[in-house]
Amino acid sequence: MQIDLDPEGRKVVIFGDVLGARQALRRFISSGAAVTLATRGPLPAAAERTSTVRYAMQPEATDTAGLLRLIGPAWLVVDVGLSLALRDRISELVAHLHLLMINEAPAPGGGQVTLVGGGPGRTGLLTLEACDALRQADVILYDRLAPTEDLAEIAPGVELIDVGKSPYHHPIPQRTIEHLMTTRAKRGESVVRLKGGDPFVFGRGGEEMQACVLAGVPVHVLPGVSSAVAVPAASSIPVTHRGVSKSFTVISGHTPPDPRELEGLVRLGGTIVILMGMNNLTQIVAGLCRAGLDPATPAAAIERGFSDAQRSAMSPVGRLPAEVRRLDICAPAVVVIGDVVAVAPQYVHSAEVIDAFGHRSLSARARAS
Ligand code: SAH
Repeated sequence: MQIDLDPEGRKVVIFGDVLGARQALRRFISSGAAVTLATRGPLPAAAERTSTVRYAMQPEATDTAGLLRLIGPAWLVVDVGLSLALRDRISELVAHLHLLMINEAPAPGGGQVTLVGGGPGRTGLLTLEACDALRQADVILYDRLAPTEDLAEIAPGVELIDVGKSPYHHPIPQRTIEHLMTTRAKRGESVVRLKGGDPFVFGRGGEEMQACVLAGVPVHVLPGVSSAVAVPAASSIPVTHRGVSKSFTVISGHTPPDPRELEGLVRLGGTIVILMGMNNLTQIVAGLCRAGLDPATPAAAIERGFSDAQRSAMSPVGRLPAEVRRLDICAPAVVVIGDVVAVAPQYVHSAEVIDAFGHRSLSARARAS
């Protein structure tokens, strides 16, 4: 069961040491609560104290009157790693005073990086584990295509750093991102590197993992929903379909593939999915057709999948570049080439359809014209 409470303006007493309770502290401070940290460990140095938190020594051996003075005025008591004996005493008082009490796991110490796949941009397509990692982070370094709209709500109080890259424009060089990531983790912080889609699909996630390993920083990976499969689905295109296509190949169109690669792709006969391909689309399509691809093969380009601005162009591949220009379909977009595109109900409206057996034929509309 989950109950949403708004702590704004309320008194919250957190029991825990400064390190373990840092994430709970940040969340309650950012939600506007009046926070007291009752801590057994060393109090933070004066320079690190914030004016928004009161500090009290956690009274391991304090008498009941002392504890009552501490939690008596509270609206909520948060236990972040109390000793069992003290937890029992406080729970009893909390029940007696009809207060609320919750438990939270202490924030991890030691520092680590989690590479999180954020999916194609819609908050709902974040995984549950991704949301947990975001909530428990000290700092989130996020990319342009990651789902950022609701970050402040999912991870209240967490420091957010935009390291977003757009095509051909990298405001923060990759090495600087890696340096930032590893130095923050070495300071003992939980760093989340939030990426669009899956971190290991054209996301430089592998490089970032290696940078962490080289720097001796523990690193974990949480996979995400890749746009390579999800964005076609946003336009009702399955990347495989029984009797139509039994393989799909995902390629980067960032630089045009060489003729031998294109020949290999065409020979394979499966679905071709192109990421980062909009700038070189004309060249890629021409290369594929030269390599033997039938220009009548159904194709689609889907822009900003899963956003309110999602749009797509569908046409035989030979005409796709012109159709993309006509509709002004821009990056970020996923291009899909293959008979599976005609499985999408929308494709029926274009010149060709695929029948249930995967045979290409002219649609009624095209035959009539
Ligand atoms: N790691 C990402 C891909 C990064 S490469 C993933 O697994 O999805 C960036 C490219 O992904 C973009 O140029 C575009 O081709 C594609 N892309 C990512 N999100 C998209 C979206 N919401 N709509 C359309 N294309 C998207």
